[in-house]
Amino acid sequence: MKECLCIETISYPVVFKNGITHYKLECVDCGRFIKWKPQNSSEFKLWFGKHKDKKLKEIPHDYLMWLKENNSNKKLVNKVNNYLEACVA
Ligand SMILES: [Zn+2]
Repeated sequence: MKECLCIETISYPVVFKNGITHYKLECVDCGRFIKWKPQNSSEFKLWFGKHKDKKLKEIPHDYLMWLKENNSNKKLVNKVNNYLEACVA
């Protein structure tokens, strides 16, 4: 049996009851849960697309605006909205 090294991870946001968003990291290959990572919205990383693995604060606002209009993932859109609102505030 080949042991998975769990090098490639995928992460996605999960909002906890206390309102804090954590990232759930899982192995892409075997699906093993790796760890929870707390994130605030500017540290939030995209897990897909041309800005994959970039933090929201590193991504051009045009792209984020486009993303929130064109993405059906509500959690992601909320995160992007929170970030953009925090930026203009
Ligand atoms: Zn693995």
